[in-house]
Amino acid sequence: MNIGVFLDRDGTINEEMGYINHLSRFHILPRAAEAIRLLNKNGLKVVVATNQSGPARGYFPEGLIIELNNKMIDILKEQDARLDGIYYCPHHREAIVPSYRVVCDCRKPKTGLLKKAAQELAIDLSKSYVVGDRFLDIELAHNAGAKGILVLTGYGKGELMYQGNSNPIRPDFVAEDLWEAADWILQDISSHRKGAKKDLK
Ligand SMILES: [Mg+2]
Ligand SMILES: [Zn+2]
Repeated sequence: MNIGVFLDRDGTINEEMGYINHLSRFHILPRAAEAIRLLNKNGLKVVVATNQSGPARGYFPEGLIIELNNKMIDILKEQDARLDGIYYCPHHREAIVPSYRVVCDCRKPKTGLLKKAAQELAIDLSKSYVVGDRFLDIELAHNAGAKGILVLTGYGKGELMYQGNSNPIRPDFVAEDLWEAADWILQDISSHRKGAKKDLK
């Protein structure tokens, strides 16, 4: 079974800009590609899990999400970094476009996207990680039995400052950015491996 690292997209990989309703609004964050490359090299499955309600709200067609994902793949490829999967939820229960107006099981913090990825990529969610810039991502992690890392890019700083104390959900780690999150994940995995070896003695 594989270990998965599930990444939020906006505010975690690319700059939080509100709705990314045009390809020109996609700007990758510093060290994000480096972080993904580091996770790739260590054999972890790197999977994007993102809520994208723009089409449901009638702001832009779903095809733009695919175009953006392809742009992200290309930018990462230039830096030798690779995603093992991209999963998104296009649904919203208040969608103005009827076909998206469903109460689904995949809108984060629900775990549908992670469960689908886990099945398709043989990922053990209980040994996996979610990285995101919102407490919703941490909630997702815990709902799935994984560890949650809050990054201070995107909405992260503000969420921690204004919601951090009142929110009963605690991140397992708070990282400056995706690279620091990736570094912590690798340390966390290796500390478990060492622990496991000690148990055997
Ligand atoms: Mg985000
Ligand atoms: Zn959904």
